[in-house]
Parts: sequence; C-alpha cells; structure tokens
Amino acid sequence: MLSELNKLKDGVPLHQKMRVGGKLIGNDRVIEVRNPYSGKLVGTIPKATVGDIREAFGMARRYKSKLTRFERSNIMLRASELLRANADAISDLITAESGLCKKDTLYEVGRACDVFVFAANQALVDDGQVFSCDLTPHGKQRKVYTMKEPLLGAISAITPFNHPLNQVAHKVAPSIATNNRMVLKPTEKTPFSALLLADILYEAGLPPEMFSVVTGDPKEIADEMLTNADIDLVTFTGGVPIGKYIAGKAVYKRQVLELGGNDPIIVMEDADIEEAATLAVSGSYKNSGQRCTAIKRMIVHQAVADEFVDKLVAKTRAIKFGNPMDVNNDMGTVIDERAAKEFEAKVKDAERCGAKLLYGNERDGAVYSPTVLDHVPADCMLVAQETFGPVSPVIRCTDISDAIRISNSTPYGLSSSVCTNRMDYITRFIRELELGSVNVREVPGYRLELTPFGGIKDSGLGYKEGVLEAMKSFSNTKTYSLPWL
Ligand code: NAD
Repeated sequence: MLSELNKLKDGVPLHQKMRVGGKLIGNDRVIEVRNPYSGKLVGTIPKATVGDIREAFGMARRYKSKLTRFERSNIMLRASELLRANADAISDLITAESGLCKKDTLYEVGRACDVFVFAANQALVDDGQVFSCDLTPHGKQRKVYTMKEPLLGAISAITPFNHPLNQVAHKVAPSIATNNRMVLKPTEKTPFSALLLADILYEAGLPPEMFSVVTGDPKEIADEMLTNADIDLVTFTGGVPIGKYIAGKAVYKRQVLELGGNDPIIVMEDADIEEAATLAVSGSYKNSGQRCTAIKRMIVHQAVADEFVDKLVAKTRAIKFGNPMDVNNDMGTVIDERAAKEFEAKVKDAERCGAKLLYGNERDGAVYSPTVLDHVPADCMLVAQETFGPVSPVIRCTDISDAIRISNSTPYGLSSSVCTNRMDYITRFIRELELGSVNVREVPGYRLELTPFGGIKDSGLGYKEGVLEAMKSFSNTKTYSLPWL
C-alpha cells in the first residue's frame, strides 16, 4: 500500500483487501471510510465473513516460526527504518482516516518507530531463570531452569481508533519479538494504518503467516475473534463496555484488556501553576483529547484555582484547531460528528448541574473546539464518565484527602498527573490513588513505549502493556530441571 499513498493525496480512494497469511482477501461487501474533516471517501475495506476469520486463525495456529532472535530483531529494526523513511506519507494516511492533525500523526509515527526499536532490542534478551535446588535440607543436587516459548495457539488482537498505527504496533511488535502468530482486527473507523503496517512488516522480511489483518463489521465477526478454538490469547484495547463483553465471552483464553480512563491532573496549593496549566493543556488537547490517558478531570486546590483557571483559559485560547492537514494546527477533528455532538450535550448537562462554561463547546461537523469549564460538580456525567474529547473540566477541592477522594470516585483507574513538590503529598498520592500510574509533574500519558503501562478497576485487569510486559503476556514459561549443580 505504501506506493499507493501518493494517490491518496490526489484524492484517489484506497480500495484495500485483507492480508491473510500472505494472501490478499476481499469480496464485494465493503465498508466505506470517510475523512472526518472533508467527508471525502478515504477508501474501502472488505467485510470479512466468519469463514475468513476461521481461515486466518487456522493458518496462524498451524504456522510455527523458526526465526532466530537475531532475525526477529533485524525485521523490526528494518520496519522502524521504513516507517521513519515514509513518516510524512504515513502521517497523511492517519490524518485522512482519523482527522487527527499532522502534528499528532507525525508524533504517532515516531512513537511506532520507538515500539519496534525497543521490541527489536528486547528480542535479543533471554529472560530465562536458573534456580539451584540444594537450598533446603530436602533439596537435591539439581537445577531448575525456565525458558519462554511462544503460545501454542494464535493471538487475537483488536484495536481502537485513537492511535490507528501505534496501538497496532503495540500489539504486533511484542508478538513478533516472542515468535508468535497474530490475527489483528483494527477498528472499522481507521483500518488503513494497520493494513499498511502489515505491508511494511512483510517488506521488512516478516513471514506473512506471523501477522494477518482482517477487517469487517464487528456485529458479524467479533465473536469469532473471541471464541475461535485456535486462539490462545485475546489482547484488546478499547472502551469499557466492549472490554467487559470480551471478559465474559473469551472463556478460558488469556485476556489482556486495556480499557478506558478518566485520568485526573491534581494541582496542589504549592504547585508551580504555570507548569501545571501547561501540562493541563497539553494533556487535555493532544490527539484531540482522544487518548485513554488524556486529562479528563482537573482537580485543583481551591487556594490556587482562580490563578490556574485564568492560565488554563489563556493557554486554551492559543490552541489552533480545524483543518487537520494544516501543519500549524494543534488539533484536527474528533473521530466523527456523533462524538462531537456527544461532548456538546455532556457540556450542556454539566452547565445544568452548576458548572460554568468559560470557553468553547463550539462544533462544526466533527470539528469540536477545546473547551474549559470551572466549578464542575464531581458527580456530573461529564466527569463521572469518560469524556473522550478535548474538554477541560475543573473540579475544585479543599485539601489532599478531598483530592484523593474525588480522584478515586469514578470506576476508572488508569493514570494520573500530580502537581506538587511536597514529599508528604507525593507519597500519599502514590500510595492512595487507585490507578495504574502516577506521574509527578508530567502528563498522565507520559511513558516510554517499553515501560509497563495499564490500569486497574474498569480500566483493565491489571495485566500491563508496554513492549516488555506484553512480551511476558504473550509467552508461556516452560520449567525444566537437570541433574547437575
Ligand atoms: P471501542 O471499544 O468502541 O472499539 C474498540 C474495538 O472493538 C474496535 O476495533 C471495534 O470494532 C471492536 N469491537 C466492537 N464490538 C466488538 C465486540 N462485540 N467484541 C469485540 N470487539 C468489538 O473503542 P474506540 O471507540 O475505538 O476507542 C476509544 C476507547 O478506547 C476509549 O474508551 C479509550 O479510553 C480506549 N482506549 C484505551 C487504551 C488503553 O490502553 N487503556 C488506549 C486507547 C484507547
């Protein structure tokens, strides 16, 4: 597909087929994907049948990779080079299918390169363990060893729309690093980046049996992606309702579920307010506010709330938004008009509950303005549920116990940002916030692509992602013992 990206610039739609074990599979039942900003046709993808999905998993299970660590590492380094060399064209594609602005999509391509470089390095590391057995009175002159093996069956991966390339990279790179075989279904909203990534990996030397991409209507094929007998593990990134559906459906399969978030930035009275407002704006509006770790609540100590809100509004006014292809814009569209209308309605509901709208809540199609509200009640729909868009709701708090109580009051538990320099506050936040990550004086989304990442409560089952943790999830540990010391 890489060679076809130029045509997209000239307005020629991409008509793509599925990639199944090296075969291009399609039919005349297609899904149209439209540019959220212009409404123009970006292209079409096939609607897979249940038979197509069965074929993909059967092939994946039968294939046993013989790639050495060196070969896997080289393939992924080559893939990262191809991504980097074509970064501009690839970011154009992500922008066309998602409406994310060029600044965001160029950044995303860079992150996907990092994923492959980290996975390439990690593929070279043997994390087997050795245990001497003469440690107790009834011990023996033996040693117990462990080694990691790929799963016997295939991995089923399902990804969301908000990072169409990087979410897919985070699934497939650890799968390659561990010599597994994966069948991935990207969201039907932004499917092209995943198909393109498959082509890039094949060009880099990946045996196509190790990574297939299927597309279609989840109503028709999702259950097969969860229950097929050839699947050993389901890895899913997306919203809580579908995550919980999967938890009940994919019975006796390993499940890695990375679900929604409702991440706070907590600003205490001793914080550097200029820094806190800068972090708040970047955490709230990057990627059009559509990151699982976007800042969705701003819990601010009442002593500094006025100063914080003034700076927040000033910095929000400076955000340029609109045409996603304009390289000067900081925000493009949200995923579709329906989502934008939902934010509009939730903001109006918050006003009815007593919140004060200070800036924004304007909409033109899928273009939704950055939006600031103050005095938001902690239990109104806008902040009690995940609002997956560029909205900055300020909730005022009285002290640290109040901040922790408000933060913990939603069902989510993904990540957080804490703005303070007081060690007594920092240690309490790290201990008492019920979530997966605490970033002191950084946005909730701060991480390396390598480091453990993921949530608890409704945000996930506690199995983390990030290249290193995903490689652990995607492996079986074989234990063996030998009669030597
Ligand atoms: P979504 O849950 O609507 O869809 C995600 C995927 O699930 C899509 O590929 C969709 O086709 C598929 N799907 C639909 N019905 C299904 C079914 N019955 N069974 C299995 N799969 C099905 O999510 P979205 O709107 O694409 O993405 C936004 C959500 O993803 C937000 O809630 C966001 O917080 C979350 N997210 C979480 C993380 C994380 O790492 N925790 C990262 C990014 C996004």
